Amino acid sequence: MAELMERTQKVETGDGTSQFNFWTDKQPCWEKCHCPEMIKDECPATRYQFLPCWEIEGTYCKLDDRGATGKDTSICEVCRVYKKYGHDEPIRLKLFGKGMDTQLKAIEKIAQ
Ligand code: SF4
Repeated sequence: MAELMERTQKVETGDGTSQFNFWTDKQPCWEKCHCPEMIKDECPATRYQFLPCWEIEGTYCKLDDRGATGKDTSICEVCRVYKKYGHDEPIRLKLFGKGMDTQLKAIEKIAQ
C-alpha cells in the first residue's frame, strides 16, 4: 500500500526522473482558479507538478502582456494559491524555458 501511495504521488519531471507531486493533498492552482481546459492543457503548472506553480517561469497567470516571459512573480505574492500553500517563503523561480511563452515562440518560428 505504501508503495502504491508513493507511485501515485510521484510525477515525471521530464528528464527521465520522478519526484513527489507538490499538489498531493492540496487543491491545485488550476482547480482553485477554475482554469478552462485549453489553458490547463498548455500551462506548465499542470505538466510539472513536482513544483508549485509560483516556482515555474511562464505559467499562464504570469504572462501579463504579449512578449512577457513569465518571470515576474509579483502576481503570485497576492495570489490565494501561494498564500495558502507558500508558507510565506520567498518566491524563487526554479524551472525555466518550459512556459507558455516558449511554446508560442516555437509555434511562431514554425509558422514563419
Ligand atoms: S498567480 Fe502564481 S501562485 Fe497563483 S496560480 Fe498563478 S502561478 Fe500560481
